[in-house]
Amino acid sequence: MSSATGGLKELHDLHLQYADVESQLDSGPRQIRVREKIVAKKLAAIDAQKENLKELQKAADHKNLQFKSNEQHLVDLRAKLNQASSNKEFDIIKGQIEADTTANASLEDDYLEALETIDAGRQQLAELESELKSAQAAVETARQEVATEKPKLEARMAELKTEIAGAESCIPNEIREDYRRLVAAKGSECLARVENYACTECFVEVSPQQKVLLRSAKATKCKSCGRVLYMEAVE
Ligand SMILES: [Zn+2]
Repeated sequence: MSSATGGLKELHDLHLQYADVESQLDSGPRQIRVREKIVAKKLAAIDAQKENLKELQKAADHKNLQFKSNEQHLVDLRAKLNQASSNKEFDIIKGQIEADTTANASLEDDYLEALETIDAGRQQLAELESELKSAQAAVETARQEVATEKPKLEARMAELKTEIAGAESCIPNEIREDYRRLVAAKGSECLARVENYACTECFVEVSPQQKVLLRSAKATKCKSCGRVLYMEAVE
């Protein structure tokens, strides 16, 4: 037992270590959940991209069909041109052929552009699939780390519980009940250090009677926040 704080500082340190191990234990599953969310997002993005590609393909096929049917129309027009019975008819058909040829050139451009967009979309899909693989690997790594760390942390927590139970002998009987309630409510913040004769948690000064108790390493409760107080150096 520490002569300066009557074991209270040691008890506080053990509570702080316990809280730290507890938070490490909680952070494992949290990290897994964060990574799982990334995987879910990638899967949703992949589905959306596949849907997008389907639509793009449909639009491209439609353009291609239009193009082919116009090409056939042009073949027909050219045949008609050869059979034109008058100069007037010849000119009309020739005009149609020119207009349709221009329209089809633009349709072909549109189709080729649509194919390029599809290629780019497929590239994006491949990138998303590779990102998904990395995200899934990260989940697996996190799961393995947690599985390795969990038993160690749990063992350390059990050790600390025993050490805390032993160190609690420094809590006087008259405040033991209050201390139990504090531990349940505040965990590692059940104790507070005193500096310049003030509680370091709520900054309220201690009374003259409490100063006497603190100087003789006796536990006393902060009259403001209720924490069990201790003083490291005699001031
Ligand atoms: Zn306080």
